[in-house]
Amino acid sequence: MTDGPKTSEEIEADKAGMREAIGRAMTMMREAIKWKAKMIAANKANGRASCPCCGGKETVSVSIALGYNNHMACQCSACGVGFRE
Ligand SMILES: [Zn+2]
Repeated sequence: MTDGPKTSEEIEADKAGMREAIGRAMTMMREAIKWKAKMIAANKANGRASCPCCGGKETVSVSIALGYNNHMACQCSACGVGFRE
């Protein structure tokens, strides 16, 4: 590791990392839509789910602003993937 300007390889690695992170967030979002529907149906504002990204059991905490705007936030405590609506 150096503090100098990044090489093009390093820049490419950054971009790949970013694409990967976006891909993981998308994977979680697809699952989160299902969690959200179930939780709203059950009138549950907080819950846990298994992570579709790292496979962690019940590692994702999910919260929904029930009765406000139903926006949700979720984050996996194991791999750190998450998003906020
Ligand atoms: Zn995870």
